[in-house]
Amino acid sequence: MVHVSSSPLFSGNQVYDESSGGRNFEQEHPHEVHCSRERSRIARKVIEEYLTPFVERENYQLSKKCKLHPEKDIFRDQEEHKVYIDIHEWRCGYCKKSFREENFLDQHFDNRHYNLLNVSDGKCLADLCGALHCDAVMTSKSSRSKCNPAAAAKNRHLCESLADGCFPISEGPSASRLHELFLHQFCNAHTCSGKQKPFSRGGKEQRSFFSIAAAALILVLLPVFYLFLYLIQSDMKSRTQELRRISKAGWKTKPS
Ligand SMILES: [Zn+2]
Repeated sequence: MVHVSSSPLFSGNQVYDESSGGRNFEQEHPHEVHCSRERSRIARKVIEEYLTPFVERENYQLSKKCKLHPEKDIFRDQEEHKVYIDIHEWRCGYCKKSFREENFLDQHFDNRHYNLLNVSDGKCLADLCGALHCDAVMTSKSSRSKCNPAAAAKNRHLCESLADGCFPISEGPSASRLHELFLHQFCNAHTCSGKQKPFSRGGKEQRSFFSIAAAALILVLLPVFYLFLYLIQSDMKSRTQELRRISKAGWKTKPS
């Protein structure tokens, strides 16, 4: 199933060499967008992981003015047109061309489908990375060693403006609850004291971790339960047999 795009079905779309795997043709960068695709992706991941579950639970609709609104991400449409076939095949959803690595597909998007980017001011999700703790997600080790109080204050300010812009308290109880959650989840950790951790209210992954743990526990406990039942049953059986033996022996001794 690798390189399906070389089939005649898609030949009409082929304007360049297929065997290159996208490498030779995607190296030029004629249309530079000053927004990091990678950091935007991480910001999106953070939002989906640590905010979206709570917003969905409240059944809350983000306004289009909110910078976290999906439409505020210039790469969203392209990212949604990434077709993952397997580890060695990524397909472009616009022109069906296949690539061996996601990286090559990113370059292909930059070069061939730049016109589909919705470029305008205030649409770079990567700009929110400071507020959303993208670095904490990117690097497994915490960057506690060097904390810049000015940068922390700036990120906190950006974070609080996001909370105000996306969840205005005046909009009602749902917005108020989400506003408070946003502060706990993202903003309060922008301090050099190190006391507050980001994502303190947990996320999607954590919940799925708990459900996996619960399922594992049930899987372990179920055989134990059945073993217990079996032991009780066999114990009862042996006791009734013993009773029978005693009563039989008693019955046999009577006539003699
Ligand atoms: Zn394409």
